[in-house]
Amino acid sequence: MYWYVASPAPEGKPSVADKPELAEMFHNWPAPIPELIAATDAANIIKTDLYDRPPIPKWSQQNITLLGDAAHPTLPTMGQGACMAIEDALAVTQCLLKHSEPTAAFRQYESMRLLRTKKIVEQSLLIGKVARLQNPLVAAMRNTFMKFLSQQFEKDYKTLHAYKVTVY
Ligand SMILES: Cc1cc2nc3c(=O)[nH]c(=O)nc-3n(C[C@H](O)[C@H](O)[C@H](O)COP(=O)(O)OP(=O)(O)OC[C@H]3O[C@@H](n4cnc5c(N)ncnc54)[C@H](O)[C@@H]3O)c2cc1C
Repeated sequence: MYWYVASPAPEGKPSVADKPELAEMFHNWPAPIPELIAATDAANIIKTDLYDRPPIPKWSQQNITLLGDAAHPTLPTMGQGACMAIEDALAVTQCLLKHSEPTAAFRQYESMRLLRTKKIVEQSLLIGKVARLQNPLVAAMRNTFMKFLSQQFEKDYKTLHAYKVTVY
């Protein structure tokens, strides 16, 4: 189990200092957020920068290919990075079982996976940008808008999670 907090900060200088500061920032948030922070051993809190990269159109060269974060590093706003890595692993395995030539297998693997992962990387970036809006008026509008969109989000996530890796 894990939790995370993200906030804008200069590279290499995480803006949240330590557990007491986190506990103070989130003390009036709904349960179980303050409880989770309180139950976490300070030594287990990792402070690090988050990076993504614009999607690239090709992951393979000859008998080498990439999968997971190496192929499509993404922000964790949708919680999909590891999910995509697992999907990639299944897709590349099925393609390698189907084709005797790695180049043919990797061509099919890329054609199956590029579009889905590109969409998730771009959507994760957009969600991060919307979440970080600082202007109080714009942020209030965002918060209201989000409440109306909650059912749509639920539907979108169901579609996202219904994805099946299928090699034809
Ligand atoms: C805060 C946060 C929250 C997240 N939440 C979620 C979530 O809820 N759901 C989700 O699906 N994803 C989530 N992710 C994303 C997820 O953690 C990554 O997408 C996933 O770990 C990528 O897996 P990977 O195997 O591609 O890469 P990694 O997990 O980075 O594995 C690569 C491994 O290779 C090792 N390595 C690197 N170089 C070498 C070398 N030269 N020789 C040998 N080994 C090497 C590294 O040490 C590492 O162990 C989150 C990420 C963050 C940062």
